[in-house]
Amino acid sequence: MSVGAPSPAGVVGRSADLELSDAWLVDPASGREGGGEIVVRDGIVESLRWLDGGAGREDGIVVAPGFIDLHAHLRDPGNEAAETVASGLAAAAHGGFTTVCAMPNTTPPIDHAAMVAAMRAAAESSGSPVRLLPFGTATAGRAGERLAALGELAAAGAAGFSDDGAPIQDGELFRNALAYAGMLGLPLIDHPEDGTLTVGAEAHDGLVATVLGLRGCPAAAEANAVARDLALLAEVAAEVPGARLHLTHLSTAASLDHVRRAKAAGLPVTCDVTPHHLALSDEWLAGARRWAWQALDDDGAARDPWRDAALVAAPYDSALRVNPPLRSATDAAACLAALADGTIDAIATDHAPHTEVDKAVEFGLARPGIAGLETALGVLLEAVDTGKVTLRRVVEALTTGPARVLGPAGVGLGGLIEGAPAELVVFDRSARWTVESSSLHTRGHGSPLLGRSLPGRVMLTIAQGRVAFEDPESA
Ligand SMILES: [Zn+2]
Repeated sequence: MSVGAPSPAGVVGRSADLELSDAWLVDPASGREGGGEIVVRDGIVESLRWLDGGAGREDGIVVAPGFIDLHAHLRDPGNEAAETVASGLAAAAHGGFTTVCAMPNTTPPIDHAAMVAAMRAAAESSGSPVRLLPFGTATAGRAGERLAALGELAAAGAAGFSDDGAPIQDGELFRNALAYAGMLGLPLIDHPEDGTLTVGAEAHDGLVATVLGLRGCPAAAEANAVARDLALLAEVAAEVPGARLHLTHLSTAASLDHVRRAKAAGLPVTCDVTPHHLALSDEWLAGARRWAWQALDDDGAARDPWRDAALVAAPYDSALRVNPPLRSATDAAACLAALADGTIDAIATDHAPHTEVDKAVEFGLARPGIAGLETALGVLLEAVDTGKVTLRRVVEALTTGPARVLGPAGVGLGGLIEGAPAELVVFDRSARWTVESSSLHTRGHGSPLLGRSLPGRVMLTIAQGRVAFEDPESA
């Protein structure tokens, strides 16, 4: 079944009504999951009742708090052909997200207060009830030379600071960014990458890159940066009690080991992982299309896709070019284990739409990024189906986990709360849908999942009490 045509005009934005008597409710905020009923009237959760025995099935209609994405590129202003605030928020709602944090690498970048205000105004005028939380840059112009006016950005409503794809290489500047962000009570979000190891990098440094002749990006490039960040965080946190570091889109086993140890030592660090780094691996570049957990042998090593005759698609699909690159199946398994054991706090999409012009080129020239807001849930449910992570844990990492990372901006988000404006997603756990350009709301081209069937069709997304997405077929 193919769904997801744009919601009928007039539906989006109206105050929501909903009555479900045998749903499966997942509410990480109260630590509960089970059958129950929920009634939303005029946008308010009028009643929420947990029913023992019989009601709802985990593989039936699921109601969860609206998802929170800590990492999305909305391309607006500057590249509206790839995405606009309106199309990005529509994609978010179709994916079940009710809060989206926008990365500041727009043109111009969000490095001063007026830009934050402009982003918020664009979200307002889009008519979408999905909440947009802009991040400000950490350094002026994302140039990595001097700090941006962090206080002014915070006062204008920036929810955190990040230079994302242009991470701060200068240690002293990074330390200052951590300290000032901490004094403002906001997280510094780092894309950990040791730039001295990634010049010209195209793919994860491993067997696949070697065979395909692509320049490798070593796992150490990420782990080195994570280790540096954590060493600086230990010093800053001793002096600035509010300092908080959030490491985004971690992709390697070595990085996650660093974070696990840092957390055990009590450092104020959090991290997220993307759905594609959990479920896809570098063998997709060669033409494999099996999930990462299907590409492991019994002792956890990545299998050889050539020996397995697992190549079913053309190699060098530029839709798979992403930074950090798709890693080995072993790294993906480490990400899944770290999600399950709580080392990973949040799942973030790193939604990175591009125009066809920027993607329909040779692999190494394609702009990195995958448009992931609308496929996140389906990919994650595939991971749940392996039994290696629970539905509740995945929902946590999409709701209360990112809300905690946000701190002040996340207060009150991530729960099913009686008497409050509804903020939730309803999805049919076992209904499958096919990812097609025509079924997606993003303007971004080239999802590597096009043509694939995914479980978990989103039926309704309600944000701030108003309808953000409604599947016309299930209305
Ligand atoms: Zn990044």
